[in-house]
Amino acid sequence: MLAVRMYGVDDTRLENVETPHAKYGEIVIKIAAAAICGTDVRMITGGAKGIDSEHPKILGHEFAGTVFEIGEGVEGYHLGQRVAFAPNFGCGICNNCVKGNGHLCADYKATGINIDGAFAEYCLIPAQAVRSGNICPIDDNISFEQAAINEPLSCVYNGFEHADIRPGDVVLVVGAGPIGIMHCALALMAGAVVYLNDISKDRLEEAKKLYPKLNLLYNIDDIMELTDFVGADAIITACPVPSVQSKAIELAAVGGRVIFFGGIAAKNEPVPIDTNLIHYKQLIVSGTTRASLYQYRRTLQFISSGVLDVSPLISKRLSLKDFSEGLDLAKRGIGLKNVIIME
Ligand SMILES: [Zn+2]
Ligand SMILES: [Zn+2]
Repeated sequence: MLAVRMYGVDDTRLENVETPHAKYGEIVIKIAAAAICGTDVRMITGGAKGIDSEHPKILGHEFAGTVFEIGEGVEGYHLGQRVAFAPNFGCGICNNCVKGNGHLCADYKATGINIDGAFAEYCLIPAQAVRSGNICPIDDNISFEQAAINEPLSCVYNGFEHADIRPGDVVLVVGAGPIGIMHCALALMAGAVVYLNDISKDRLEEAKKLYPKLNLLYNIDDIMELTDFVGADAIITACPVPSVQSKAIELAAVGGRVIFFGGIAAKNEPVPIDTNLIHYKQLIVSGTTRASLYQYRRTLQFISSGVLDVSPLISKRLSLKDFSEGLDLAKRGIGLKNVIIME
C-alpha cells in the first residue's frame, strides 16, 4: 500500500509498504480521510521519540474510513462499515482506564503517534483498541472528512467540559488556529458571549467569516474594559505562548475558569503565574490533554445531529501523494484543517 512514513526530523517519504492484515482480535480500516494536525507538524519538525531512520512510522491520528478486514474473534463489526477511530487507548485495567480515562493511562498508546497511523491506504487497529471500543460506527449523514476532524473536536470538548461554560458567560479564547476556533464553536453552541484573540489580524478575520457571532479582540487587554473590568468567566489558551498563560490568570473574573489547552515547549517552562490571583479570585485553573473515548463519541453525536457544523474548518483537501503540500500549509499556518482524501 501507499503510505507516508516519517524517518526523522523533516524527513517524510511517500513509499510502498506492506499492507497490514488483521490477526486475531484486530481490524484493518481502509482509510477514507485523514486530517493533518499541529501534532504531526510538531513531530515532523521537532522529531519524535522512537522514530528514526531505522524505525520509521506512519503518522496520522485524525481519521475515518471503512472496515476492510476483520480478524478472528472480533464481533460487532462488519465489512464495509463506516467508522471513525478514537486514536488513544489505555491498558484497560488500571484505575484511569476503568474510570473511562484511557487517554490518561500511564501505559496509553496512540495510533499515528507511537504506532502506525492513517497517512496510508490502510491502518491496522490493535486488538486492545478493538476491545475497548475505539472503533466507532458513524451515521451515513457524517462525511468521512467530518469524522476525521472529530478527533481534535473531542479534545477541545474535553477542555470545554473543564471550563464549565454556561449560557451568557463571557468566554475568551486565545489562538485562532483550528483548535481555538473549535473552542469558539463549542462555546457559542453553549450560549456564551465569545471573544477570540490572536496576534494575527488576518486569522481573526478569517475566523469571523466562519462564525459570524464571534467577537474579535485585537488587543487581549481590552477584555477588561469590555466587561466593565470584571474579566472573563472562562479563558482558554489555545496557543503555546507562556505569557498568554500568565495573562489569562490576570484577565479572569472572580470565580473564573482558566484552561491551559495548548502545551508549552519544554524550553519555556516553568511559566510565572501569580498564584495570589488564583487564591483571591477563587479561580479554577486546569489543563486538559487528548480526550476520553466517551467524549469522542459525544462530539460525533454533535456532528451527526447537526448541532455543530465542523465542515467550514476544512480548508484544503489533498491526495496522499500531495501530503508534503498539506504539511507545508499546516507548518505555515495557512488555512485551518488540511485533510488527506483517499481515492
Ligand atoms: Zn490531532
Ligand atoms: Zn490503563
